[in-house]
Amino acid sequence: MNRVYNFSAGPSMLPESVLLRAAAEMLDYEGSGQSVMEMSHRSKVYDAIIKGAESLLREVMEIPDNYKVLFLQGGASSQFAMVPLNLMTKNRKADYVLSGQFSTKAYKEAARFGDCKVVASSKEQNFSRIPDLDPKEFRPDADYFHICMNNTIYGTVFHALPETGDVPLVADISSCILSRPIDVSRFGVLYAGAQKNVAPAGLTIVIIREDLIGEPQEKTPTMFMYKTHAESDSMYNTPPCYSIYMCKLVLEWLKNEVGGLKAMEKRNVEKAALLYDFLDRSKLFKGCAEKESRSIMNVTFVTGDKDLDAKFVQEAAAAGFVNLKGHRSVGGMRASIYNAMPREGVEKLVQFMENFEKENA
Ligand SMILES: *Cc1c(COP(=O)(O)O)cnc(C)c1O
Repeated sequence: MNRVYNFSAGPSMLPESVLLRAAAEMLDYEGSGQSVMEMSHRSKVYDAIIKGAESLLREVMEIPDNYKVLFLQGGASSQFAMVPLNLMTKNRKADYVLSGQFSTKAYKEAARFGDCKVVASSKEQNFSRIPDLDPKEFRPDADYFHICMNNTIYGTVFHALPETGDVPLVADISSCILSRPIDVSRFGVLYAGAQKNVAPAGLTIVIIREDLIGEPQEKTPTMFMYKTHAESDSMYNTPPCYSIYMCKLVLEWLKNEVGGLKAMEKRNVEKAALLYDFLDRSKLFKGCAEKESRSIMNVTFVTGDKDLDAKFVQEAAAAGFVNLKGHRSVGGMRASIYNAMPREGVEKLVQFMENFEKENA
């Protein structure tokens, strides 16, 4: 068996020990005589899985008791609509920071449901940094304030959170959830598609302060109401059963093998530093994100020559470093180094880049 180092932005690598355990439990989960894919979501044995996943997530992320955890479907993209439908209800106003494509999509979707203001944007800088925020632009009567914390396509991250006072802060954390500790109490809503750092595709995690689960806008479909899912403990309809089970295994790995989010952060910071230090001393490769906005999850870089970029991506893939091509909209290269990417994978990639630089100088 020959496993590659997969630098995909998502779906992405899962820890090998998690895959091995899932394989071992495939045909007969804990003596039930069936796989988790086949069992009823209303069964006792499955109930322990979904409850276990939630309690582990609460423990690992230190989620306060006044927050609900929802296991939904539809991806982070569905949250672009669910957030305004459920939260833009008092003054029908929301503030958005545009720091990349996903936050722009979120803004455009929300603008269909109310008065949305762009309070800052780094579009003019090709989203190579998190825009400077001027609190005078923030509207005190906004129903919420939205950011995309880690910008997957551009490789930037908010290192400091905006001070929004009583206005609930809502964040898309799809590509940085579980990468480091985060103070959940600073947020009204956190949401994430699971396929970057938590589980296979199909699961969307929402963490919402209970007082924000109110009456949604009129005509909101039942499946798009947070209260539908909160009142039925994510069991209103069939949840993404297998992804939730995988999420539980990943959280067990994170807690027991890694040692929690502080230890995870240390690993991730070290992995990212290996790559950024190389980019900073390389004469061929250049990092795309400005230093003060650099993400520890997605590292974007270019050679400055499109043909050489393509050659690099192709030779890297042949050597077992796959999915290094940048997002189709921006080109260049992107190494997504989520939790499950071992340090060794990054070390070997840097060696490969050093050799490529020598050969193509
Ligand atoms: C991948 C991603 C999305 C889109 O997620 P889907 O689950 O595919 O809808 C949204 N936001 C961010 C930050 C992402 O990385």
